Amino acid sequence: MNHSFDIAIVGAGAFGSSCAYHLSFSGKKVLVLDLFQPPHSMGSSHGLTRIIREAYFEGPHYVPLVQQAYVLWDKLEKSSSQKLLLPTGGLMIGNPNGKVVNGALQSAQSYGLPFEYLDNKDIIERFPAFRPGPGDVGVYEQRAGILFPEHCIQTHLELASRSGNITFQFNSRVTGLEEIKGIIRITTSAGVFEAARVVLSAGAWMNDLLPGFELPLTVARQPLYWFNPGSVLPQFSGPDRHPVYIWELADQRMIYGFPNLGDGIKIAFHHGGRQTSPGTLEREVSPEELAEITAVLKEHFHLEPEFSRSSVCMYTNTTDEGFILDFHPFLKNLIIASPCSGHGFKFSSSIGKILSDLALGNTPELDISAFSLSRFVGQ
Ligand SMILES: Cc1cc2nc3c(=O)[nH]c(=O)nc-3n(C[C@H](O)[C@H](O)[C@H](O)COP(=O)(O)OP(=O)(O)OC[C@H]3O[C@@H](n4cnc5c(N)ncnc54)[C@H](O)[C@@H]3O)c2cc1C
Repeated sequence: MNHSFDIAIVGAGAFGSSCAYHLSFSGKKVLVLDLFQPPHSMGSSHGLTRIIREAYFEGPHYVPLVQQAYVLWDKLEKSSSQKLLLPTGGLMIGNPNGKVVNGALQSAQSYGLPFEYLDNKDIIERFPAFRPGPGDVGVYEQRAGILFPEHCIQTHLELASRSGNITFQFNSRVTGLEEIKGIIRITTSAGVFEAARVVLSAGAWMNDLLPGFELPLTVARQPLYWFNPGSVLPQFSGPDRHPVYIWELADQRMIYGFPNLGDGIKIAFHHGGRQTSPGTLEREVSPEELAEITAVLKEHFHLEPEFSRSSVCMYTNTTDEGFILDFHPFLKNLIIASPCSGHGFKFSSSIGKILSDLALGNTPELDISAFSLSRFVGQ
């Protein structure tokens, strides 16, 4: 194999696979490296489902990015003839002044997005599985839905491979990146490669690979659970009965979940997981963790559910829970793509396009200044 490339992508998860797809139209010689064979269940992109929503409680500045992501998911579905996004509607629940409800409302109002504001009685009448407290309200948006993450990654990679200008080097560990006379040397377990530009999209492993510099990232362990709700299963089935949801509880813990897609209901806490690292991640769920989520299902859904299975994933969090899409401060040909903070998947179709533009020296269509590294100066 010729070991010299125009562009290399380190990490072919959500962001790397999408970047590879967009670069496949460029005619450039591209190398895509991964530690495993993607899609896999060792990082942050497994567990079968991810929420996509437009009335974005994390801030109105995410709305144009998710709107572009919807367009690109649709385009990917059409060009692959695969079903990647299932519309289910989405419900943001909690205190009217809380982060989730108030934030969703602000984004919806700023961008004129269609939404319905529901009080707790409306929620129970329309979506009977939920048992909101007397002070809870909901912002419902019809456009929200479910992405199938493993399938999305597979599709991006398959379509990228059709171009013939992408080389895949999987099951290979990148161990070092250094820039010599403007060219990046990539040392891996499969040999040494060179590229004029590198996109580093290594998820929870980012800080292992950054030369001379550490990003303000922490990795959190986040378990996911599937339950069988028993005789009330129909209340959890079908978009008009049970949308995807994020619920800010009275004690500020956040839960999110999905309707039954044939394998029971999936539920998890959003954030709050203990600090970990990819090398030390405990992949089994403890009885205490199971008891905590079961108590939530009892209190907020009035369920006595039967546990079916669990999985453990990693959030890579920045201090402001935003993304980082920027050039390395000293290595001018190294692009950093670390957009997890537990909510990055939905954007991966458009973030891959942004990364490919940066790698090609083009200015991205969307303003990405909110995701610059400079905001962390002094941290
Ligand atoms: C439990 C959970 C639920 C989530 N729910 C949602 C949701 O509902 N909606 C949403 O939008 N987002 C959600 N997210 C966030 C979203 O899934 C992540 O932001 C996104 O998947 C991260 O993608 P990534 O490409 O950064 O990382 P990954 O997909 O993990 O990819 C990183 C890749 O880098 C590779 N790699 C690492 N080190 C090396 C090395 N040394 N050499 C070569 N390759 C390397 C890894 O093997 C991996 O394939 C959730 C995340 C989790 C964990």
